[in-house]
Amino acid sequence: MKKVVKFGGSSLANARQFKKVGDIIRSDKTRRYVIPSAPGKRNSNDEKVTDLLYQCYDAASAGKSYKRIFTRIKERYQEIIDGLGLNLNLDHEFDRIEENFRAGIGRDYAASRGEYLNGLVMAEYLGFEFIDAAEVIFFDEEGNFEPDSTNTELSERLEHVERAVIPGFYGSKHDGSICTFSRGGSDVTGSIVARALHADLYENWTDVSGFLVVDPSIVENPQVIETITYKELRELAYMGASVLHEDAIFPVRREGIPINIRNTNRPDDRGTMIVESTCRKPRYTITGIAGKKGFCSINIEKAMMNSEVGFGRKVLQVFEEYGISFEHMPSGIDTMTIIVHQSEFEDYEQSVIAGIHRAVSPDSVEMESDLALVAVVGRGMKATRGTAGRIFSALAHAHINVKMIDQGSSELNIIIGVKNTDFEQAIRAIYDIFVTAEI
Ligand code: ASP
Repeated sequence: MKKVVKFGGSSLANARQFKKVGDIIRSDKTRRYVIPSAPGKRNSNDEKVTDLLYQCYDAASAGKSYKRIFTRIKERYQEIIDGLGLNLNLDHEFDRIEENFRAGIGRDYAASRGEYLNGLVMAEYLGFEFIDAAEVIFFDEEGNFEPDSTNTELSERLEHVERAVIPGFYGSKHDGSICTFSRGGSDVTGSIVARALHADLYENWTDVSGFLVVDPSIVENPQVIETITYKELRELAYMGASVLHEDAIFPVRREGIPINIRNTNRPDDRGTMIVESTCRKPRYTITGIAGKKGFCSINIEKAMMNSEVGFGRKVLQVFEEYGISFEHMPSGIDTMTIIVHQSEFEDYEQSVIAGIHRAVSPDSVEMESDLALVAVVGRGMKATRGTAGRIFSALAHAHINVKMIDQGSSELNIIIGVKNTDFEQAIRAIYDIFVTAEI
C-alpha cells in the first residue's frame, strides 16, 4: 500500500504546522511520498512565500532594492528550521538564489524556490530522500506539461525509493530552465506522482475538511461532501467552487486513483473522497451547488427558424469570429438564445449583433445583461424523480424568477439562469430544500 500526500501552504506555514504534518505522516507508514507547497499565510494579514518570491525577483531583476523582501523570505525558513530544532543551513542555497535573481534567471525559477526550499526542510525533518522536481517533471519549450516523458522518468526514479519528498509546483524544460504550473500547482504535482507510482490513494491535505456542498460565504456552515465523482467535481469547479487545482484531476483519473481531501488542522475528519464512480448513494439528492455571476443572453428571433438548415452554425460562427465562447444555448421553435460571459462580450457587442444580422437576417435580436448561472450538480438526480420540480418550487417560494433552464443529457446537472441580484438567495433556497430539509 502506498499513499502520496500533498500538503498545501497553510499546512506548512510555520513550525507548528510542520509538526502537525509530521504527526500525520508518521501515524501511517503507507504515507511514503510527500509533496510540499511553499510556506503559506500564517494568518490572514500574512503573505505567502511564493508571493514574496515574485516580488523579490521583480525588484532584483529590475536592479531595484530587494534585500528587505529577501531577508523576510530567509526568516520564514529560519523560523521553521529553528522551531523544528533541525540542523540545516540554507545559506549557500540562498546565496545561489540571490545570484540567479540578479542575473534575471526568470520568474518561474524564482517562484519555484518556495517549494524547493520547503522540500529540503521537509526531507530533513522526516528523514526522507529529497528528489528535485526539476529532475523528474518535464515541460516543453512553450511551458506545456509533458505527461509521457515525466511519467517514464518518475516511475523509474521512484521504483527503488521507499520514501521521498518531491517539491510541488515546478519542473524543468529540456534546456534545464525551471518552469512552473499555474498557481496552486502543487496539487498537480501530487497527482502526477500518484499516477507514476500507481499509488493506492492521493491525499491532498489543506485547511478545510473537504469540499463543501455550497460556498460558505453564501450559506453559513454548509455540509461537507463525503464522496464526489470526478465528473461532478468538474461541473462544480467550472462553476467556481475551488479547493483543488483544475488540472490535478487528470493524471490520477487515468489510473483510477481516488483523491482524498483532508484537513491538516482536523486530521480525524474524513474529508471528501473524489472517485471515478461509486455505488455509494450521495447523502442528499444533490452533491453540490455552485454558480457564477456576470453573464448576458442574446435572444435571436426569426419566424420559421427551425426549418432553416445551418441557422445555428451561422450564428455561432459570428461569436467564433470574435473569439467569444458560449456557455449555453437554449432554443425554441423560432428563438435561439446564446449565453456568454458579459466581460468577454461587452467590447464586441455591436459588432456581433451586426454580424448576426448579416449572417441570418433575424426578425429581432435582444439582449439581457447581469445574469447569474447556478449549477445544481449530483449523480443522484438521475435516479430521483422530481428534482427539477423541487428546485423550481423552492425558487418560486423565494420569489425568484427563473430566466433559463438547461439540463445536460448526462442528468448530472441542472443549470438555472437568474438575475445577478437573485443569485445568493437562489443558492440558499436550493440548499435549504435539498440539504437543510433532508438532514
Ligand atoms: N506555492 C504555489 C502557489 O502559491 C503553488 C502551490 O501552493 O500549490 O500558488
